[in-house]
Amino acid sequence: MLFKKLAQVSSLVLSLLLYSNAAAKNLPTQSVIPGGIILIPIKDAAQKNTPQVFFSGRRAMVLRNTNEWIAVVGIPLDQQTGTAAVEIQLGTHTRTHSFNISGKTYTTQKLNVAPKQVDLSSEDLARVEREQPKIRAAMATFSEHEPLDLQLVQPVKGPRSSSYGLRRVFNGQARNPHTGMDIAAPTGTPIYTPLTGRVVDAGNYFFNGNTVIIDHGQGLVSMYCHLNSITVLVGAVLNTGDKLGEVGATGRVTGPHLHWGVALNHAFVDPVLFLERPSVAP
Ligand SMILES: [Zn+2]
Repeated sequence: MLFKKLAQVSSLVLSLLLYSNAAAKNLPTQSVIPGGIILIPIKDAAQKNTPQVFFSGRRAMVLRNTNEWIAVVGIPLDQQTGTAAVEIQLGTHTRTHSFNISGKTYTTQKLNVAPKQVDLSSEDLARVEREQPKIRAAMATFSEHEPLDLQLVQPVKGPRSSSYGLRRVFNGQARNPHTGMDIAAPTGTPIYTPLTGRVVDAGNYFFNGNTVIIDHGQGLVSMYCHLNSITVLVGAVLNTGDKLGEVGATGRVTGPHLHWGVALNHAFVDPVLFLERPSVAP
């Protein structure tokens, strides 16, 4: 009898845990622009299958929320403005959800670095070509489990020295735009994990220097670059607030800082959308 009661209570607790899961999560700020995020509620209470959502052929995050789901979709910085659509698969049914991506003009930033970091030697070029697929594969990680939350803690205390989306000109030559957030801090400043996750890559790369990549679940993957030292190993599970390394100036940099990248469905989006919103309007 007591056992039965306990079983009933624990199954109630379990279902409460399961169903309050997504509802209790803080969602990122929606911003339907290149480099932003769109939140798409999916209502289909009759269906027992969890929907799968795809954007540009890449699986996107879906969170369960009591009687509905919510897709959290990253919009790549190089996405064309205008009409776009996600594909929603529910059981055997597939439908599309269209939305409009508005434009944003990002400003240009001019930087001067060592010439060999802009005009690459054939050796360095070969190294970059070897490294890119490894970095891309780590950033494309998609784990089925939901992230514990979608609000992140800024991993390093310090001013954000340049923002996401800047068009970059290195030594007078246009290069890829900036797809992360730079946080200025002295070499040796500890970097803390902004949200529980598993280390999927840790290594040294030509442009990114010493780098750590963390998988938080459902395609939310974060990246930490230019580290002076890495203090975690691939496979380690880190909790929010665990140290993962120290700020440095390795790779292509003009000075010590953390480059922080945050990706959804393999698209680097603006990390600021995951930071706590000010409780009072500025
Ligand atoms: Zn950067």
